[in-house]
Amino acid sequence: ENFGQLGVNANLVKALEENKIIKPSEIQQQVIPYLLKNNTDFIGQAQTGTGKTVAFSIPLLQRIKPNEKHIQVLVLSPTRELCQQIAKQIFKMTRYTEKVFAEAVYGGEKIDIQIRNLTRPTQVVVATPGRLMDLLERKALDISQVKTLVLDEADEMLSMGFKDAIDTIVEQIHEDNIKWLFSATMPDSLIRLTEKYMAPDTHTVS
Ligand code: AMP
Repeated sequence: ENFGQLGVNANLVKALEENKIIKPSEIQQQVIPYLLKNNTDFIGQAQTGTGKTVAFSIPLLQRIKPNEKHIQVLVLSPTRELCQQIAKQIFKMTRYTEKVFAEAVYGGEKIDIQIRNLTRPTQVVVATPGRLMDLLERKALDISQVKTLVLDEADEMLSMGFKDAIDTIVEQIHEDNIKWLFSATMPDSLIRLTEKYMAPDTHTVS
């Protein structure tokens, strides 16, 4: 099977092909058609290196309404490096996609520059929870219209102490939202988080 057969639009397929991403990995085959078809919560148990970033980035990008300039999708990720990787993947994938704007915000970088960047039209924000909290306190962005929240490497975010930040962020997004959670492991603390925030019958792929 190829990406087109999974329901991926031609502009994304073309950009993926240019980056030598031609044959969908196992997780991509399982995740992409499901997330494209269903407007529901989702849990994917997957390690780094399996292609999970592309697996959630394709459905995430196909959900964007290009004519709406507010932040529609928020991706939370534990580290600066991961945020940069995800954003880089998204930038590469959107090469032929018009009017989709993504911004990455993370600690260890001048906040003033990120605040200025967020004044441009932005539909996708990739963020570490700590820096996002800081930016929210400074009213540098508005996440109230976010209807898709991706929690990437959720186990890592909890072990780094981001539980309270995640709670605060979840409270601020649109009440009519779906959450896609990816994690290598499912410790009790994470199961409690999924029970609190996600539908009881959430589809899980591992
Ligand atoms: P990830 O598991 O998301 O960290 O991705 C690991 C690496 O695999 C990244 O460098 C991706 O660009 C690459 N990748 C993702 N999907 C594919 C694919 N279907 N074929 C070849 N490389 C891929």
